[in-house]
Amino acid sequence: MSALIAVQNLVKIYRAHRQEVRAVDDVSFEIEEGTTFGLVGESGSGKSTIARCALGLIPLNSGEARFDGRRITGLTERAMRPVRAEMGMVFQNPVAALNPRMTVRDSIAEPLLTHTTVRGRALDDRVGQLLEEVGLDAGFATRLPHQLSGGQSQRVGIARALATRPRLLVLDEPTSALDVSVQAQVLNLLQELRAQYGLTYLMISHDLDVIRYLCDTVGVMRRGQLVESGSAAQVLTSPRHEYTKQLIDAMPEAPGAKPRGADTIPTKLRRTTQ
Ligand code: ADP
Ligand code: MG
Repeated sequence: MSALIAVQNLVKIYRAHRQEVRAVDDVSFEIEEGTTFGLVGESGSGKSTIARCALGLIPLNSGEARFDGRRITGLTERAMRPVRAEMGMVFQNPVAALNPRMTVRDSIAEPLLTHTTVRGRALDDRVGQLLEEVGLDAGFATRLPHQLSGGQSQRVGIARALATRPRLLVLDEPTSALDVSVQAQVLNLLQELRAQYGLTYLMISHDLDVIRYLCDTVGVMRRGQLVESGSAAQVLTSPRHEYTKQLIDAMPEAPGAKPRGADTIPTKLRRTTQ
Protein backbone atom coordinates (compact mmCIF):
# COMPACT_ATOMS: atom_id res chain seq x y z
CA MET A 1 0.00 0.00 0.00
CA SER A 2 1.12 3.53 -0.59
CA ALA A 3 -0.10 6.87 0.61
CA LEU A 4 -2.32 8.77 -1.81
CA ILE A 5 -2.18 11.86 0.35
CA ALA A 6 0.64 12.73 2.70
CA VAL A 7 1.08 15.96 4.60
CA GLN A 8 4.17 16.64 6.60
CA ASN A 9 4.83 19.27 9.26
CA LEU A 10 2.04 21.40 7.91
CA VAL A 11 1.86 24.91 9.32
CA LYS A 12 -0.78 27.44 8.28
CA ILE A 13 -1.00 30.86 9.86
CA TYR A 14 -3.77 33.26 8.96
CA ARG A 15 -3.29 36.96 9.42
CA ALA A 16 -6.50 38.84 10.06
CA HIS A 17 -7.04 42.18 11.77
CA ARG A 18 -3.33 42.36 12.59
CA GLN A 19 -3.64 39.13 14.51
CA GLU A 20 -2.04 35.83 13.72
CA VAL A 21 -4.01 32.64 13.97
CA ARG A 22 -1.95 29.48 13.93
CA ALA A 23 -4.76 27.46 12.34
CA VAL A 24 -2.63 24.38 11.65
CA ASP A 25 0.41 23.79 13.80
CA ASP A 26 2.86 21.13 12.61
CA VAL A 27 0.44 18.46 11.44
CA SER A 28 1.53 15.28 9.66
CA PHE A 29 -0.52 12.32 8.44
CA GLU A 30 -0.90 9.96 5.50
CA ILE A 31 -3.91 8.37 3.89
CA GLU A 32 -3.42 5.04 2.17
CA GLU A 33 -5.12 4.67 -1.19
CA GLY A 34 -8.57 3.13 -0.87
CA THR A 35 -8.99 3.98 2.80
CA THR A 36 -10.91 6.64 4.71
CA PHE A 37 -9.22 8.96 7.17
CA GLY A 38 -11.49 10.87 9.52
CA LEU A 39 -10.58 14.20 11.05
CA VAL A 40 -12.49 15.07 14.20
CA GLY A 41 -12.23 17.97 16.59
CA GLU A 42 -14.11 20.98 17.84
CA SER A 43 -15.07 23.90 15.63
CA GLY A 44 -12.09 26.13 14.83
CA SER A 45 -9.52 23.39 15.46
CA GLY A 46 -8.17 23.64 11.91
CA LYS A 47 -9.91 20.77 10.09
CA SER A 48 -11.11 22.70 7.04
CA THR A 49 -7.77 24.46 6.76
CA ILE A 50 -6.02 21.09 6.62
CA ALA A 51 -8.40 20.02 3.85
CA ARG A 52 -7.58 23.14 1.82
CA CYS A 53 -3.85 22.65 2.36
CA ALA A 54 -4.00 18.97 1.44
CA LEU A 55 -5.78 19.84 -1.81
CA GLY A 56 -3.26 22.54 -2.62
CA LEU A 57 -5.94 25.23 -2.53
CA ILE A 58 -4.10 27.63 -0.20
CA PRO A 59 -0.41 28.36 0.35
CA LEU A 60 1.30 26.92 3.42
CA ASN A 61 3.65 28.67 5.80
CA SER A 62 5.77 25.57 6.05
CA GLY A 63 5.63 21.85 5.51
CA GLU A 64 4.43 20.10 2.40
CA ALA A 65 1.61 18.11 0.89
CA ARG A 66 2.08 15.19 -1.48
CA PHE A 67 -0.45 13.55 -3.76
CA ASP A 68 0.46 10.08 -5.00
CA GLY A 69 4.07 10.72 -4.07
CA ARG A 70 4.23 14.01 -5.92
CA ARG A 71 4.88 17.24 -4.07
CA ILE A 72 1.98 19.61 -4.75
CA THR A 73 3.05 22.39 -2.41
CA GLY A 74 4.12 25.44 -4.37
CA LEU A 75 2.98 24.11 -7.76
CA THR A 76 1.75 26.70 -10.25
CA GLU A 77 -1.96 26.67 -11.04
CA ARG A 78 -1.11 25.23 -14.44
CA ALA A 79 0.98 22.40 -13.01
CA MET A 80 -1.72 21.77 -10.42
CA ARG A 81 -4.52 21.36 -12.94
CA PRO A 82 -4.12 17.68 -13.83
CA VAL A 83 -3.69 16.86 -10.14
CA ARG A 84 -6.85 18.80 -9.34
CA ALA A 85 -8.85 16.55 -11.65
CA GLU A 86 -7.91 13.62 -9.44
CA MET A 87 -9.40 15.28 -6.36
CA GLY A 88 -12.99 16.12 -5.53
CA MET A 89 -14.41 18.18 -2.71
CA VAL A 90 -17.80 17.91 -1.04
CA PHE A 91 -18.92 20.74 1.21
CA GLN A 92 -21.00 21.02 4.34
CA ASN A 93 -23.72 23.23 2.97
CA PRO A 94 -24.85 21.57 -0.25
CA VAL A 95 -27.24 24.32 -1.28
CA ALA A 96 -24.66 27.10 -0.88
CA ALA A 97 -22.09 25.00 -2.75
CA LEU A 98 -24.23 25.10 -5.92
CA ASN A 99 -24.62 28.15 -8.09
CA PRO A 100 -28.32 29.10 -7.70
CA ARG A 101 -28.60 30.04 -11.36
CA MET A 102 -27.03 26.89 -12.78
CA THR A 103 -29.05 23.80 -13.59
CA VAL A 104 -27.99 20.49 -12.10
CA ARG A 105 -26.72 19.49 -15.52
CA ASP A 106 -24.51 22.56 -15.81
CA SER A 107 -23.14 22.21 -12.27
CA ILE A 108 -22.10 18.63 -12.91
CA ALA A 109 -20.82 19.40 -16.42
CA GLU A 110 -18.63 22.30 -15.26
CA PRO A 111 -15.64 20.29 -13.98
CA LEU A 112 -15.84 18.13 -17.11
CA LEU A 113 -15.63 21.23 -19.30
CA THR A 114 -12.64 22.47 -17.31
CA HIS A 115 -10.68 19.24 -17.09
CA THR A 116 -11.71 17.02 -19.98
CA THR A 117 -12.43 17.18 -23.70
CA VAL A 118 -15.83 15.49 -23.29
CA ARG A 119 -18.46 17.56 -25.11
CA GLY A 120 -21.93 17.40 -26.68
CA ARG A 121 -23.86 14.18 -26.46
CA ALA A 122 -21.06 12.41 -24.58
CA LEU A 123 -21.13 15.17 -21.97
CA ASP A 124 -24.88 14.79 -21.43
CA ASP A 125 -24.48 11.03 -21.23
CA ARG A 126 -21.78 11.41 -18.60
CA VAL A 127 -23.97 13.80 -16.57
CA GLY A 128 -26.82 11.29 -16.78
CA GLN A 129 -24.53 8.51 -15.65
CA LEU A 130 -23.27 10.58 -12.71
CA LEU A 131 -26.84 11.37 -11.64
CA GLU A 132 -27.62 7.68 -11.70
CA GLU A 133 -24.51 6.89 -9.66
CA VAL A 134 -25.69 9.19 -6.89
CA GLY A 135 -29.22 7.82 -6.98
CA LEU A 136 -30.96 10.63 -8.85
CA ASP A 137 -33.30 10.28 -11.80
CA ALA A 138 -32.08 11.71 -15.14
CA GLY A 139 -34.96 14.23 -14.93
CA PHE A 140 -33.05 16.12 -12.24
CA ALA A 141 -30.68 17.46 -14.89
CA THR A 142 -32.91 20.42 -15.72
CA ARG A 143 -33.63 21.43 -12.12
CA LEU A 144 -32.26 24.46 -10.34
CA PRO A 145 -30.84 24.25 -6.80
CA HIS A 146 -33.96 25.77 -5.20
CA GLN A 147 -35.97 22.89 -6.62
CA LEU A 148 -33.91 20.35 -4.69
CA SER A 149 -34.13 19.06 -1.13
CA GLY A 150 -31.02 19.17 1.06
CA GLY A 151 -30.27 15.50 0.42
CA GLN A 152 -30.76 15.88 -3.33
CA SER A 153 -28.48 18.93 -3.36
CA GLN A 154 -25.77 16.97 -1.59
CA ARG A 155 -26.15 14.13 -4.09
CA VAL A 156 -25.61 16.68 -6.87
CA GLY A 157 -22.57 17.97 -4.95
CA ILE A 158 -21.20 14.44 -4.82
CA ALA A 159 -21.89 13.87 -8.52
CA ARG A 160 -20.04 17.10 -9.30
CA ALA A 161 -17.11 16.07 -7.11
CA LEU A 162 -16.97 12.70 -8.88
CA ALA A 163 -17.33 14.10 -12.41
CA THR A 164 -13.67 13.88 -13.38
CA ARG A 165 -13.32 10.42 -11.83
CA PRO A 166 -11.05 11.54 -9.02
CA ARG A 167 -9.16 9.14 -6.79
CA LEU A 168 -9.60 11.27 -3.67
CA LEU A 169 -12.68 12.89 -2.19
CA VAL A 170 -12.37 15.42 0.59
CA LEU A 171 -15.66 15.56 2.47
CA ASP A 172 -15.95 18.52 4.82
CA GLU A 173 -18.87 17.78 7.17
CA PRO A 174 -20.88 16.45 4.22
CA THR A 175 -23.90 15.37 6.24
CA SER A 176 -24.02 17.78 9.15
CA ALA A 177 -26.44 20.19 7.45
CA LEU A 178 -28.86 17.38 6.56
CA ASP A 179 -31.81 15.86 8.39
CA VAL A 180 -30.83 12.77 10.36
CA SER A 181 -32.75 10.37 8.10
CA VAL A 182 -31.11 11.85 5.03
CA GLN A 183 -27.68 11.71 6.68
CA ALA A 184 -27.84 7.93 6.79
CA GLN A 185 -28.76 7.70 3.12
CA VAL A 186 -25.92 9.98 2.07
CA LEU A 187 -23.44 8.07 4.24
CA ASN A 188 -24.59 4.82 2.64
CA LEU A 189 -24.13 6.34 -0.78
CA LEU A 190 -20.59 7.46 0.11
CA GLN A 191 -19.83 3.99 1.41
CA GLU A 192 -21.08 2.38 -1.82
CA LEU A 193 -19.23 4.80 -4.07
CA ARG A 194 -16.03 4.24 -2.17
CA ALA A 195 -16.27 0.48 -2.58
CA GLN A 196 -17.29 0.71 -6.23
CA TYR A 197 -14.53 3.05 -7.32
CA GLY A 198 -11.82 2.28 -4.78
CA LEU A 199 -11.92 5.89 -3.65
CA THR A 200 -9.85 7.42 -0.90
CA TYR A 201 -11.67 9.74 1.50
CA LEU A 202 -10.57 12.50 3.80
CA MET A 203 -13.69 12.77 5.95
CA ILE A 204 -14.12 15.73 8.25
CA SER A 205 -16.82 15.43 10.87
CA HIS A 206 -17.49 16.41 14.43
CA ASP A 207 -19.87 13.45 14.67
CA LEU A 208 -18.13 10.39 16.05
CA ASP A 209 -20.93 8.14 14.80
CA VAL A 210 -20.18 9.24 11.27
CA ILE A 211 -16.48 8.65 11.82
CA ARG A 212 -17.15 5.24 13.33
CA TYR A 213 -19.31 4.23 10.40
CA LEU A 214 -17.01 5.31 7.61
CA CYS A 215 -13.38 5.59 8.72
CA ASP A 216 -10.44 3.23 8.81
CA THR A 217 -8.12 5.68 10.52
CA VAL A 218 -8.84 8.78 12.57
CA GLY A 219 -7.01 11.94 13.56
CA VAL A 220 -8.10 14.15 16.43
CA MET A 221 -7.53 17.88 16.07
CA ARG A 222 -7.32 20.39 18.86
CA ARG A 223 -6.30 24.01 18.45
CA GLY A 224 -4.39 23.38 15.26
CA GLN A 225 -2.63 20.28 16.48
CA LEU A 226 -3.20 16.63 15.72
CA VAL A 227 -3.27 15.32 19.27
CA GLU A 228 -3.88 11.70 18.38
CA SER A 229 -4.17 9.49 15.33
CA GLY A 230 -4.43 5.80 14.62
CA SER A 231 -6.89 3.12 13.58
CA ALA A 232 -10.53 4.05 14.14
CA ALA A 233 -10.97 1.10 16.46
CA GLN A 234 -8.05 2.14 18.63
CA VAL A 235 -8.73 5.86 18.76
CA LEU A 236 -12.45 5.48 19.38
CA THR A 237 -12.38 2.60 21.84
CA SER A 238 -9.10 3.11 23.69
CA PRO A 239 -8.06 6.71 23.16
CA ARG A 240 -4.66 7.69 24.49
CA HIS A 241 -5.16 11.41 24.68
CA GLU A 242 -7.25 13.02 27.39
CA TYR A 243 -8.93 15.30 24.84
CA THR A 244 -10.09 12.33 22.75
CA LYS A 245 -11.59 10.77 25.89
CA GLN A 246 -13.46 13.98 26.54
CA LEU A 247 -14.77 14.04 22.97
CA ILE A 248 -16.03 10.48 23.24
CA ASP A 249 -17.58 11.08 26.65
CA ALA A 250 -19.32 14.17 25.32
CA MET A 251 -21.10 12.18 22.63
CA PRO A 252 -24.76 11.61 23.50
CA GLU A 253 -24.66 8.01 22.29
CA ALA A 254 -23.14 5.40 24.59
CA PRO A 255 -19.76 4.15 23.45
CA GLY A 256 -19.28 0.56 22.35
CA ALA A 257 -20.84 0.96 18.90
CA LYS A 258 -19.01 -1.23 16.46
CA PRO A 259 -16.16 0.28 14.47
CA ARG A 260 -16.19 0.12 10.71
CA GLY A 261 -16.60 -3.26 9.23
CA ALA A 262 -19.78 -3.60 11.19
CA ASP A 263 -22.35 -3.47 8.43
CA THR A 264 -24.94 -1.60 10.39
CA ILE A 265 -25.70 2.08 10.41
CA PRO A 266 -25.07 3.73 13.78
CA THR A 267 -28.11 3.56 16.04
CA LYS A 268 -28.63 7.28 16.07
CA LEU A 269 -28.70 7.34 12.27
CA ARG A 270 -30.66 4.13 11.84
CA ARG A 271 -33.70 5.19 13.78
CA THR A 272 -35.44 7.13 11.06
CA THR A 273 -34.18 5.42 7.91
CA GLN A 274 -37.07 3.04 7.29
P1 ADP B 1 -12.54 23.94 11.61
O1 ADP B 1 -12.80 23.53 10.21
O2 ADP B 1 -11.97 22.85 12.47
O3 ADP B 1 -13.75 24.54 12.25
P2 ADP B 1 -10.93 26.06 10.42
O4 ADP B 1 -9.85 25.39 9.67
O5 ADP B 1 -12.08 26.56 9.65
O6 ADP B 1 -11.42 25.08 11.61
O7 ADP B 1 -10.33 27.29 11.26
C1 ADP B 1 -9.16 27.17 12.07
C2 ADP B 1 -8.84 28.54 12.63
O8 ADP B 1 -8.43 29.41 11.58
C3 ADP B 1 -10.00 29.23 13.33
O9 ADP B 1 -9.50 29.98 14.39
C4 ADP B 1 -10.54 30.15 12.25
O10 ADP B 1 -11.16 31.27 12.81
C5 ADP B 1 -9.28 30.54 11.51
N1 ADP B 1 -9.52 30.81 10.07
C6 ADP B 1 -10.05 29.97 9.16
N2 ADP B 1 -10.08 30.51 7.93
C7 ADP B 1 -9.57 31.76 8.07
C8 ADP B 1 -9.32 32.84 7.16
N3 ADP B 1 -9.62 32.73 5.85
N4 ADP B 1 -8.77 33.97 7.66
C9 ADP B 1 -8.46 34.09 8.97
N5 ADP B 1 -8.65 33.10 9.88
C10 ADP B 1 -9.19 31.96 9.45
MG1 MG C 1 -14.58 23.49 9.13
